[in-house]
Amino acid sequence: MNKTIEQTENKTKNLIEKAEEKLLFTTVRPNIIMEKGKGMYLWDVEGKCYLDFIGGWAVTCLGHCPEVITEALQQQSNKLINASPSFYNEPMIKLADLLVEHSCFDRVFFTSTGSEANEGAIKLARKYGQKFKNGAYEIITTINSFHGRTLAAMAATGKEAWETLFQPKMPGFKHVPFNDIDSVKASISNNTAAIMIEPIQGEGGVIPAEESYVKALRELCDENNILLIFDEVQTGIGRTGTLFAYEQYGIEPDIMTLAKGIGGGFPLSAMLTKEKFNIFDIGDQGGTYCGQPLAMAAGYAVVNEVINKSLDKNAKAAGEYIIKELEKIKDKYGLKNIRGRGLLIGFDLPQEKGRELVNDCLEKELIINSPRPSIIRLMPPLICSYEDIKKMIGILSESLSDLLI
Ligand SMILES: *Cc1c(COP(=O)(O)O)cnc(C)c1O
Repeated sequence: MNKTIEQTENKTKNLIEKAEEKLLFTTVRPNIIMEKGKGMYLWDVEGKCYLDFIGGWAVTCLGHCPEVITEALQQQSNKLINASPSFYNEPMIKLADLLVEHSCFDRVFFTSTGSEANEGAIKLARKYGQKFKNGAYEIITTINSFHGRTLAAMAATGKEAWETLFQPKMPGFKHVPFNDIDSVKASISNNTAAIMIEPIQGEGGVIPAEESYVKALRELCDENNILLIFDEVQTGIGRTGTLFAYEQYGIEPDIMTLAKGIGGGFPLSAMLTKEKFNIFDIGDQGGTYCGQPLAMAAGYAVVNEVINKSLDKNAKAAGEYIIKELEKIKDKYGLKNIRGRGLLIGFDLPQEKGRELVNDCLEKELIINSPRPSIIRLMPPLICSYEDIKKMIGILSESLSDLLI
């Protein structure tokens, strides 16, 4: 018995040593090697089993290794993995058709990551400016936003720590305070091509856009012939209680980007737009993996399942339950500003102990996230049940007792 424990512990130790030696340093990770997943749970190589309330970073919306995805991948990989971006394939057409049918958009461009989808949106806005607005190219984005890690997406992102990183910066972005329509108005010029927001700032700590703000943005864009871009990379595909978050604001954006949830764990992203912005010329936009059959098959399986099982409604109910349960413990631990929509939830800690809390919960086999030192974010799979939530609240309460009292 002891020997087996020792062997598995050695396995982790050996693998971690190799990881630290061979992988380019970019971040610090816990000394855990994840091996498998099912539903709401992840297992490491030592057999420890973790309840996953970050859902693969708001990605595994159907939970880990759901049959609909593994079957779609198996079937597709037996038929066709890659025919090159120069040919159509059937799952590509099916997925585009499904997304168009269930959204306000007419056209879809597929790629692999959220950053790339946003690059596509930025290009499309600049193309529009070139063609119809005397070369206008500026895009207004918000402070505390996150749009990705490619150079243009980093320039779009309103993160103070990135301001001096990887100079020179891609020009053409203006950052204004979030939920502040007057500063948007003050920043608009003849050079403005688009305004881009996240309907809920995710990495920024789960900060929802107010309804009046979004409605005013839509009006402002209409009045000034400016495109409204919604980055729904984190909020899309049922996460916030409707298939797309824009539906809750009673407006339609001109462009929407999706990633994370749409592939359920498979790298897939999309940029959707209206027919009148179907304006790229041949060669303006593309990519080796745009419409890659495996990604298309996975995406179709995911979106179909979210729609057929009404998982957006489950996200809404489960999210309301989490907030109710958090409200019950908030006074005891001094939690504040419990907020969010569906299964994208944030709250503030009374002290800057986010990292400690995340680590302590991990010890107790619960995975949560702290995007800011005093903010905790929960983004579990959309299949999350009341039982899972009770268990999460139990472990979280224990950790809060240990750390805050
Ligand atoms: C995660 C995220 C991105 C970047 O997506 P990648 O797949 O990491 O490139 C962009 N926008 C938002 C809102 C995100 O949450």
